[in-house]
Amino acid sequence: MKFERFLSAVSKARKPSPIRMATALMLRSPPSTISLGGGSPNPCTFPFRKLYVEISNGTNIRIEGKEMDRALQYSQSDGIPELKDWLKRIQKHFHQPPLMNDSNENELDLCVTVGSQDGLTKVFEMLLSPGDNMLLDDPNYPGSLAFLQPLPINLLPVDTDEFGMKSSSLREALSAWKPSDVLNPNSDIPKVLYTIPNCGNPTGASASTGRKLEIYKIAREYDLIIVEDDPYYFLQFNETVAPSYQQLDTDGRVIRSDSMSKVLSSGMRLGWISGAKPFIDRLVLHQQATLLHNSTLIQMLVWKLLEKWKLEGFQKHLKETKTFYESQKNVMIESANKWLTGLAEWNVPQGGMFLWIKLLGIDDTTELIQKRAMEKEIILIPGSAFSVKENVKSSYCRASFSLSSPENIDEGIRRLAELVREELDRKHK
Ligand code: PMP
Repeated sequence: MKFERFLSAVSKARKPSPIRMATALMLRSPPSTISLGGGSPNPCTFPFRKLYVEISNGTNIRIEGKEMDRALQYSQSDGIPELKDWLKRIQKHFHQPPLMNDSNENELDLCVTVGSQDGLTKVFEMLLSPGDNMLLDDPNYPGSLAFLQPLPINLLPVDTDEFGMKSSSLREALSAWKPSDVLNPNSDIPKVLYTIPNCGNPTGASASTGRKLEIYKIAREYDLIIVEDDPYYFLQFNETVAPSYQQLDTDGRVIRSDSMSKVLSSGMRLGWISGAKPFIDRLVLHQQATLLHNSTLIQMLVWKLLEKWKLEGFQKHLKETKTFYESQKNVMIESANKWLTGLAEWNVPQGGMFLWIKLLGIDDTTELIQKRAMEKEIILIPGSAFSVKENVKSSYCRASFSLSSPENIDEGIRRLAELVREELDRKHK
């Protein structure tokens, strides 16, 4: 693949920071090396001494002495090597990326980011130039839309259904171009496709293997990069799940975003981007110029947790987490069946934390949800908040089953049903 073709001018212009290079060099050097080069402060002046963290099985993680000095210090921009090793092992276990077996320049690498949000925005900055056309799921995650909508680019919404992005709609969105336009450097043919393949936010939809194969085939035909935003990957309820795009990717055209937010902690802000090395190298240069790196302390905590748990412990934790969310989902579906039958429609999500509900007979839920739902003391998100194009009406709303107790889920859905009934009555008066 010609990776250069996809890089924005800003990304191409990024150069390694000499100071960051000196830090990385020092961290790799033998202890006898004398560094007068870096700008690291002396940790003997820091007030923190040690950290003991109790984890759920009653054991502890301890960071003290030299390790504490390290945890409080600057570190590598792509992440501390021990955590990177663990994340690569996780990547290999869950996705068996074909690129990981390559010994050529396309080999897979990863960069630790501050949650996946940080990584995604850096990927967008790397790939998008003013005037570009970009393909993406519609509806979509407002966090990404908040970054993308103000950019001087053209967003091309692609319809989704209960299996995620529709390949027929993708072909339709691309119908203004021919695959051979890729050869014309002045063509505005899209280069980037952004998709949330599993337990989508907001729709809860997961793409089937068949769908993914169709989409990947189109991506090859039109030479598209697939940005696979998959923070709910670990929350898929079924034992057997469809392969990720990364697992299908033999070219290096998939850039994958992962996150520990839904399974270890959202407040810790730990995510990672993985993909072909030429892309990850560019991302690391961005990291050098902005954040420098994710918190060394947080990275060490997660590394030590994984070291203690091993892959088996991590999987056991994922299983328990999924069991919790699946039972929450079951409560919401039961309540929806009880209260919303005849008033609304929905698909049962295969994972994640969202139910995407279509309110029948209501063209736009925005006012209903933003004003009248508040009066009934129920908070939901109107479908319009997820539209790729602004000011679009939507009959949908998103209900989350992550945080509320089973009783409150049931009462919330009952209140929603009451609200819909009142709204329909008002319309028919
Ligand atoms: N992508 C999607 C689809 C999300 O739903 C979220 C979080 N709500 C994120 C990315 C960002 O997650 P984080 O930065 O916490 O990893």
